[in-house]
Amino acid sequence: MFPIDLRSDTVTRPSPAMRAALASAEVGDDVLGDDPTVLRLQERMAEFLGKEASLFVPSGSMANQISIRAVCESGEEIICDDSTHSYNFETAGPAALSGVSIRPLRTPRGIFTAADVEAAIRPDNAHYPHSRLVIVENTNNRGGGSVWPPEQVAAIRAVAERHGLHLHMDGARLLNACVARGLQPVDYTQHVHTLSLCFSKGLGAPIGSIVAGPRPFITRAHRFRKMFGGGMRQAGILAAAALYALDHNVARLAEDHANARRLAAALAEMPGIVLDPATVETNIVIFEVDPRLGSAADFIARLRERGVWMLPAGPPGRVRAVTHLDVSPAQIVAASGILREVCQSAA
Ligand SMILES: *Cc1c(COP(=O)(O)O)cnc(C)c1O
Repeated sequence: MFPIDLRSDTVTRPSPAMRAALASAEVGDDVLGDDPTVLRLQERMAEFLGKEASLFVPSGSMANQISIRAVCESGEEIICDDSTHSYNFETAGPAALSGVSIRPLRTPRGIFTAADVEAAIRPDNAHYPHSRLVIVENTNNRGGGSVWPPEQVAAIRAVAERHGLHLHMDGARLLNACVARGLQPVDYTQHVHTLSLCFSKGLGAPIGSIVAGPRPFITRAHRFRKMFGGGMRQAGILAAAALYALDHNVARLAEDHANARRLAAALAEMPGIVLDPATVETNIVIFEVDPRLGSAADFIARLRERGVWMLPAGPPGRVRAVTHLDVSPAQIVAASGILREVCQSAA
């Protein structure tokens, strides 16, 4: 039962069945291009995502940074929400690796509009950076696992086309969005030029992400994967875990979403907690702790002593809990009891 680890959906550990799939994976040397399991995963993902080709990479951060590098020239600019992972949590990678600046949009949940993009595009004038790339993050992590409406992505694509911009989706949790809305990946991916998706989050694989897009883009991405040190040799071991996750761990994301809703419903009733349960659309629960209960860090420390693990979520007083395949409904009930105790003891 304890600890109940709600820090992130990255904490999932490969199950015995997944480990068996890893152990029996056929492998080759993927840098030399002959690891059959990696090739199988890349073909399957290209088809699944409705793109010409895909490339297996070590992490979601690398997937995004390779994509940015493959699309942008130094001195260009990226338009994205100010909550975006590539802007906040990839150590200034866009500046360091691609020499580009960011034009952040400010929205409450990370979901901006085509009009927001249009207004942020720089005029064609020698003083300005050259607007080149738009990133949409689906689901949006800092926005509380918020889900993009496909029509809104389509509208942004139309603006991007009109201005010659590239549209990339950080789909680290794209399958959470699809399961939550009853959509197929192509319902989103048909509207973006390229995307990334993580196997190491809710899908439960230990390592790995995919980049997908048109073949010339993937050819460039492959070059930058090598440049950034992401070429892996017998990577079929990891691709096997991703294939296992695709077969077994997609539909079950609905259970994580149900657990997140249960946790949110309980939290919304507790004294000193501010949370609108309607904001919980997938597996991420972000709530505010009244200063009377102490800082978010104090609150998290008191939970931790009792075996419930969460993380702070940026602005002061905000806490994030994430459900995943190693958290059961019984653990959500137990965590809710402990949260209630901590709220009442401080109130
Ligand atoms: C986790 C995450 C990533 C990638 O993270 P890595 O730890 O580099 O795999 C990218 N985008 C979003 C939205 C994420 O939540």
